[in-house]
Amino acid sequence: MKLKLDFVNKVPKEAKDNEIILVKDKAAKNKIVKLVNKSLFSNKLFLQKKLFIQNIKDKNYIFVNCIKSKTSLDYEKLGSQLYIFLKNNKIEKSFFVSNSSFITNVQIEKLLHGAQLKSYEFNIYKTDKTKNEINILYVVGDKSRKSNVLRSKLNSLLEGVFLTRNLVSEPGNVLHPDEYAKRITKLRKFGLKVTVYDQKKLKKMGMNALLGVGQGSVRGSYLVTIEWNGTKDKFKPLGFVGKGVCFDTGGYSLKPAKFMEDMTYDMAGSATVVGLMKTLALRKSKINAVGVVGLVENMVSGNAQRPGDIVKSYSGKTIEILNTDAEGRLVLADALTFTEEKFKPQFIVDLATLTGAIIVSLGSEYAGLFSNNDKLSKQLIEAGESVEEKLWRMPLNENFDKLINSKNADMQNINYVGGAGSTTAAQFLQRFIINKTPWAHLDIAGMAFSKYGGALNSGGATGYGVRLLNKFIEDNYE
Ligand SMILES: [Zn+2]
Repeated sequence: MKLKLDFVNKVPKEAKDNEIILVKDKAAKNKIVKLVNKSLFSNKLFLQKKLFIQNIKDKNYIFVNCIKSKTSLDYEKLGSQLYIFLKNNKIEKSFFVSNSSFITNVQIEKLLHGAQLKSYEFNIYKTDKTKNEINILYVVGDKSRKSNVLRSKLNSLLEGVFLTRNLVSEPGNVLHPDEYAKRITKLRKFGLKVTVYDQKKLKKMGMNALLGVGQGSVRGSYLVTIEWNGTKDKFKPLGFVGKGVCFDTGGYSLKPAKFMEDMTYDMAGSATVVGLMKTLALRKSKINAVGVVGLVENMVSGNAQRPGDIVKSYSGKTIEILNTDAEGRLVLADALTFTEEKFKPQFIVDLATLTGAIIVSLGSEYAGLFSNNDKLSKQLIEAGESVEEKLWRMPLNENFDKLINSKNADMQNINYVGGAGSTTAAQFLQRFIINKTPWAHLDIAGMAFSKYGGALNSGGATGYGVRLLNKFIEDNYE
């Protein structure tokens, strides 16, 4: 994070720094615009849509125009623009002075939160540290703001999102399954119960669909469960399952070389689950939840899975592997059945960068939502809209399901008839929800990574899904 917040009671007298002023009404805005037009403050003037800076007696004032901001999301976006403004203008230190007639406490918190979300950069491998300057924003006023309830809640969310972004950004040679499992165990210090099932245990349990994907790698394969018990009441846990393919070469159904490096993001679904669990623990959520992630590496070697192999999944159902690059669903198949059986959750939401086909359908605007339950779908879609991590519901039906029937086994891992690739992948997953638990599958292949950045991220790993699921839990289960 490149934006650090500090909380002070008042602007120090000696400060010759930048002061941020919020403008809430039209009259004030017009007045300032007039002054700008008259060039009274022409010394140092940059103009942006909602922000501008002026130099008065050696002191820069940054004016933030809040006029059109109504929702929490608007304030987050305004904060994001403020951060970009500070960054572009190389303003290292500034003072945020708010006036309660212009902006409420909640709005201030959202604005600061948005600025911090936007300020994330993954730069731990850059050796030129001068490129890592941090912008400090002093929040002036009541110093106790530092520890207010909303602030600490939003900080918990921020930490979860940043953990997800860090995990997704790490290259494949660093965050392989062994290292990933180890990092998840570090979450125990926040009160989470972490259980690691290694390759030996998984073999005994019969998780052959998951193990088949990882068998070409010199690294181990793992299933890791992360439990948060926030209430002793009878509260069946909420279940979250994530695909954690640390690197996906495609296996013998090898991917093209161009952009293969992006496959280091193929564990983003699991990273979202891990980030969410950290957030729930940090903010001491009053619910019970479980996160389950399958961690493997899909490589090519003398021991790798072949096209045509048939494996017996944890559920007992057999799968013919027609394409070794349709591996995420194999990992999830075992993880889903296991989660349903062991934890008996109220519902299961799984997240995966599952298909390129979902990017063809929805681009980077929506993640695809597939579900056997209307209520769950509606709740997820609403939460997604309010934090702008949007979902679009896609169809499931019996005819799609038939497309994955196999001649030689119970099913095959791709359909050859063509078309509806995201849906047939979801149909495949649905076959492993044995007890008809309410379930939703989020195909986040188009959302986990952003080349140019979005409203609340600066490009790279977006952390998609943590804010969405946190909001979904807050709105419906707390
Ligand atoms: Zn693949």
